[in-house]
Amino acid sequence: MKVLKFGGTSVGNIQNIKSVTKIIVDGEKKIVVLSAMSGTTNTLVEIADAIKNKDVEIANKTILLLSKKYRQVVESLFENSTIKQQVTIYVDSIFSKLLQITSKVYNELLYSTIVAQGELLSTFIFTKYLVQQGVKAQLLPALEFMRIDRLNEPDNFYIQQNLNRIISENLPADIYITQGFICLDADGNIANLQRGGSDYSATIIGAAINADEVQIWTDIDGMHNNDPRFVENTQAISNLSYEEAAELAYFGARILHPQTVMPARTANIPVRLKHTMRPERQGTLINNKVTDEGIKAIAAKDGITAIKIKSARMLLAYGFLKKVFEIFEKYETPIDMITTSEIAVSLTIDNITFLNAITEELEKFASVEVDQNQSIICLVGHSIVNHSKTHCLFNVLQDFSIRMISYGGSENNISLLVNTKDKIKVLKNLNSYVFENSVIA
Ligand code: ASP
Ligand code: MG
Repeated sequence: MKVLKFGGTSVGNIQNIKSVTKIIVDGEKKIVVLSAMSGTTNTLVEIADAIKNKDVEIANKTILLLSKKYRQVVESLFENSTIKQQVTIYVDSIFSKLLQITSKVYNELLYSTIVAQGELLSTFIFTKYLVQQGVKAQLLPALEFMRIDRLNEPDNFYIQQNLNRIISENLPADIYITQGFICLDADGNIANLQRGGSDYSATIIGAAINADEVQIWTDIDGMHNNDPRFVENTQAISNLSYEEAAELAYFGARILHPQTVMPARTANIPVRLKHTMRPERQGTLINNKVTDEGIKAIAAKDGITAIKIKSARMLLAYGFLKKVFEIFEKYETPIDMITTSEIAVSLTIDNITFLNAITEELEKFASVEVDQNQSIICLVGHSIVNHSKTHCLFNVLQDFSIRMISYGGSENNISLLVNTKDKIKVLKNLNSYVFENSVIA
């Protein structure tokens, strides 16, 4: 069985809902994982924020606006009056539940409950739409099988047991619909897999049922070899290994939630990225095969902070890095890039929640310099450091100040840290050199 995940834009309007229906109704049994309709989760976060700020009026107003949008969707999707009535009752119940909680005291659980409503709405509406169209569709509530443990990792055993049980109880259906993003936590409270987490839901589900393939359907025809928002004429990459895709997903190719590849890789399930509005396009296939050497893609990640830690005590000493790392560990702040010289170490973080506390502790034994507004530019591919063009990268970059370079940490990645103001120019320069064969003087 295959697992097909459709993102917010794929279920964001009537026309796209109809396109999705065409794609999934092909006589094969499958699981369909849905995000919330586009814009909905952002609006739900706004509602949660208004409640947090005790702005009940704004919260209520936003809920009413959103409910209007859903009423229109229901109006235009359903002709069958019985089904239309069922959907209307469900949609109304969600919005009246939301209106009832706007005066409650804000906490994490309230937030999780609010943001979960988007996927509950989209899956209910879509399942009923399929039923109206004569498809044997069955909703499988994610909250009956999707669970994370105390470390916020998927509880794979629980998921596998429960999902397979629920499927076996619903064998006659052709298409199973379920919610992406939402889950229970270890205490059984409603939780989620973080923003964009529906992709991750799809591969977790794929691994749990040992799927033939997981397909992520979205509004772009696969992972591109550069960022299409900043660079013209980017191309979809036809094949990526799990390692290459994981590097790209983390370093800013926003099409995939960063953790998505992991469950598929562990279970060796191919992941295919496809364009809902252009299903004839090949898309990107991610699997365990390595094709072609050299640089396949360039991506950038903003919001990076560089920290330079300098100490004469580092000279010829051992244990210095351990001391540094322990401070980041204490504040649960992951380090992304790292470079060292004999008396200094530079590293980058993207979570600056504890930046002040970390800096204070580091300053007890070193001098510390912090640079914000940095971007990591990463070049991803296979056997990348051996590639014939790699040695010329410095020429391409000679007009920019490169704050850090990480080369050789893996076969799949070279990372550069630049000031965010230079990012677009660097992406463009690299693009013409690597993919358009421009000669560098
Ligand atoms: N609806 C959630 C979000 O917007 C999850 C997802 O779309 O993947 O973050
Ligand atoms: Mg997404």
